[in-house]
Amino acid sequence: MRETLKMETVIGLEIHVQLATRTKLFCGCSADYFGAPPNTHCCPVCLGMPGALPVLNERAVELALKAALALDCEIPERSVFARKQYFYPDLPKGYQISQYEAPLARDGHLDLELPDGTTTKRVRIRRLHLEEDAGRLVHDPPTGRTLVDLNRCGVPLIEIVTEPDLRSPEEAALFVKQLRRLLRYADVSRCDMERGELRVDANISIAVDGRPGTKTEIKNMNSFQAIEKALKVEETRQRMALERGGTVQPQTFGWNPEAGRVEPQRAKEEAEDYRYFPDPDLVPLLIDEAWTRRLRAELPERPRERRRRLQEGYGLPAYDARLLTEERAIADYFERAVALFPKPKEVSNWLLTEVFRLLDEAKLAPEDLAGRLPPERLVEVLRLVDEGRINRNTGKAVLEEAFRTGREPEAIVEERKLGRIADEARLAELAERVIQEHPQAARDFKAGNERVLGFLVGQLMARTQGRADPKLAAKVLRDKLAAS
Ligand code: ZN
Ligand code: MN
Repeated sequence: MRETLKMETVIGLEIHVQLATRTKLFCGCSADYFGAPPNTHCCPVCLGMPGALPVLNERAVELALKAALALDCEIPERSVFARKQYFYPDLPKGYQISQYEAPLARDGHLDLELPDGTTTKRVRIRRLHLEEDAGRLVHDPPTGRTLVDLNRCGVPLIEIVTEPDLRSPEEAALFVKQLRRLLRYADVSRCDMERGELRVDANISIAVDGRPGTKTEIKNMNSFQAIEKALKVEETRQRMALERGGTVQPQTFGWNPEAGRVEPQRAKEEAEDYRYFPDPDLVPLLIDEAWTRRLRAELPERPRERRRRLQEGYGLPAYDARLLTEERAIADYFERAVALFPKPKEVSNWLLTEVFRLLDEAKLAPEDLAGRLPPERLVEVLRLVDEGRINRNTGKAVLEEAFRTGREPEAIVEERKLGRIADEARLAELAERVIQEHPQAARDFKAGNERVLGFLVGQLMARTQGRADPKLAAKVLRDKLAAS
């Protein structure tokens, strides 16, 4: 009988991120291609017409450098663009302009925050380079034809390659989440995965008794869920093969989310198949230190530092601080609101429940929140509640209306006469009617069943559309019941 093997999963990632530039990497075409009619964002340069020459987009270099700095990479003074050659219908030039031997940046890291919330694990970044995207093939089932859309050709990307430091599919997904958050904080990219602005390929192998295993690759996983699921499926497949005494063959798979399967694509290509060589149309890229120094100074606080500051500076629970700092736009919003209404926990409660729900229902991106509902508006609602002019439930309704219509909360309260009913005589009248309509409940209460009071208060609240002061309502009902 074979002894139990000690198996360890080893994962490395290659992540492509679309840089948030207005134009493409080597021409003036708009990089905002998503949803545009096919082949309308093209010119001789990105179509690879003979004689057309590339001109490097400075803004793309700047964003790539920001990403490199955020990942604590080393930035060599000189990097070189290279041609990566392969034949595919979405690549009109027959090569992709990328960087190979001399990438823009190398040897960085990201300190992954583990789910326990206290420890971190360092994941090394092997390299980060600039490259252009390819076009897209569009399959048209009715005609059985495959069409080519070249709008994406030449869109600027960075490719980030990690060392194989990840040890499970969960860890890989967590890494991508935290990388995405970091890049969004630094305004490098929106990283909208549904739009393909962040795409993940993974290498996975199983080390047996410390000996490295054969890698397979899974391509183009475009959601956190896909990353975790696809890697789990492949991890299980490899482990089972090895446990049965079999082997793993080098191979490239694509993830099929509908079938929940990884599907073989083609034999894995080796670097030499691409016949890389320096692009003679582009001079080496020289980065001077003053530039990186300026960019470093522009980098915002990192998510982890921001979370710590919110937690300690505002006395927030760790849970609140974590959720508020997932998105920089939300953390900014929170701080603007607290500057106007210095009750941090109250602001946090409203943001994390009501505002998050409204954002979600409206399918609005966090960065669009302040435009839709300026912090001043949220604070106005908080003040109305705080001063007792409306109750909490009414506050929620007013907030919702202010969010939907963009109107002033104060004006909504005035117009809809939503002010809280704390008028005892008015409530007494309503209490009288509630008791008349529910004689059985009234008798039960008088017979000593205290719990019915809650029911009667609920009835009274309903009659005032939630505007009655609940404590006063209970008192008035109690008085009435005692007197009747
Ligand atoms: Zn172009
Ligand atoms: Mn690439």
